[in-house]
Amino acid sequence: MAERISETLQKKLSSRLSFYEDLGIRLFYRDRGAGAALDNERQVELPATTHFPTIDLQKEKTLPKPTGKPALQKTMPVTTPVIPKIASLPVVAGPSLFESVEKIVGDSLLKTREDLGECTRCKLHSTRHKIVFGDGNPKAELVFVGEGPGADEDAQGLPFVGRAGKLLTQMIEAMGLQRKDVYICNVVKCRPPENRQPEEDEVSTCSPFLMRQIDAIAPKVIVCLGAVAAKTLLQTNRGISQFRGEWLEFRGRKLLATYHPAYLLRNPPAKSEVWKDLQKVMAVLGLEVKKGKSA
Ligand code: URA
Repeated sequence: MAERISETLQKKLSSRLSFYEDLGIRLFYRDRGAGAALDNERQVELPATTHFPTIDLQKEKTLPKPTGKPALQKTMPVTTPVIPKIASLPVVAGPSLFESVEKIVGDSLLKTREDLGECTRCKLHSTRHKIVFGDGNPKAELVFVGEGPGADEDAQGLPFVGRAGKLLTQMIEAMGLQRKDVYICNVVKCRPPENRQPEEDEVSTCSPFLMRQIDAIAPKVIVCLGAVAAKTLLQTNRGISQFRGEWLEFRGRKLLATYHPAYLLRNPPAKSEVWKDLQKVMAVLGLEVKKGKSA
């Protein structure tokens, strides 16, 4: 029988594992067999032969095929949307980044962009080329939130247009959608130098704009891509593996965190977990989840 370990040791281990995970090191320590499906969802088991988990960026044809549905409309679910169970996550002590962010009556993405202006509110402005505000359907039911622009995004002023962005596009298409159907943005709107993680002051300076974007779009589902987005919106210090794929709530909206596409590029086996997460999102949005759907 397994011996119990002390609570202190448990805490130490747990924080060390979160640390490894944030570094993108995970597979060597984690038993990944316990993916608990929410019992009120249609959880489609991927057959062992599914292609999505092993997406090769050069071979788009191996992806699950987009169904070619029209742009996602708020009133046009393809199947009856599933209502997920929402879990609750302990938040960090202290004031929330977002508590003080009131909803602005009559706000819009355009107005938010105007207010952002040629922002110099934090130090990231001094090294950026272009502000990457966000892109997509201003009435999207689904919003993806990433971490911050990389070099390609900084050059083009658009989110997720580099390698990780191509993978995100494939993921969106595998859901039967197109990029123009969803909205894509980041926690910080300017590229952190050397692609480092955004720092606390940068995140807190930029967050009100992310909040306004989310409130203006009023999506049904928010998908956080990676730990930075998830930790920012959920105000938690927990490692993403502890709540990845679970339905959570953010300001009255459904939020699900999954791995960042850049992490998937480094760890292709994790794609199958992300695909399961995206299938949960599809079910809630009423998008058809075909059993064993793959190219
Ligand atoms: N990674 C992100 O988090 N956001 C982008 O826009 C591009 C890469």
